[in-house]
Amino acid sequence: MTLTLHDVTLTYPDGDTSRLTALDAVTLEVAGGELAAVVGPSGSGKSSLLAVAATLVTPDSGSVVVDGTPTGTLSRAEKAELRRDRIGIVFQQPNLLASLTAAEQLQVMAHLSGRKPREVRDRARELLAAVGLADKADRRPHQLSGGQRQRINIARALMNEPAVMLVDEPTSALDHERGAAVLDLLAGLTRERGVATVLVTHDRSHLEVADRVVRMADGRLGAMSPTGV
Ligand code: ADP
Ligand code: MG
Repeated sequence: MTLTLHDVTLTYPDGDTSRLTALDAVTLEVAGGELAAVVGPSGSGKSSLLAVAATLVTPDSGSVVVDGTPTGTLSRAEKAELRRDRIGIVFQQPNLLASLTAAEQLQVMAHLSGRKPREVRDRARELLAAVGLADKADRRPHQLSGGQRQRINIARALMNEPAVMLVDEPTSALDHERGAAVLDLLAGLTRERGVATVLVTHDRSHLEVADRVVRMADGRLGAMSPTGV
């Protein structure tokens, strides 16, 4: 279970004639069980990096290999399937469905991949327990705190046993203590389940959970390992 980005360049149109370089020859390899943190100022390309790794955005050049699958030649449908089966995505805002309970938020993910209902229910229960919310399975989002919603978001991303987790500033809506708990959880799950995880964070105090810290500046990636700062 690895994620490899090799020499990835991504530009966006910027006005009529010029282009803005969001990612500039970025190379990053994350092994299974490893949590790589990405830090850097706003606008430096962190979310673009995750969008490319998630196959949501196609780079101008370079390669993205997810769990051994080169993504460059995949069709849109094949990319969607790869995301569903191999990639767990956690963005800033939990984005839960208001009408579903915690357990149902997770189950919905797996029904899409056609697994047996019994298996799906068991896995949802196991993951809710893993994120410390076994007793909240029947709550709806409005009956949960921000931290609890973000933990459900993480559990949901793990539902289809992804090889790769891509996590963008998951603690930005949380206070420091709850943010730290969410990141501890993420680091623990990464190691236990052998997932290759990329965590974007602006909060340097959270970096101790990472195995490696890399810094983005103007679309370029530079090493900062092993402890950051
Ligand atoms: P970060 O997550 O580090 O704040 P982003 O990856 O969101 O950075 O953005 C990197 C650069 O690319 C910024 O200059 C941003 O304005 C630009 N950018 C991001 N998304 C788009 C887009 N869809 N179209 C045009 N420019 C974009
Ligand atoms: Mg961003």
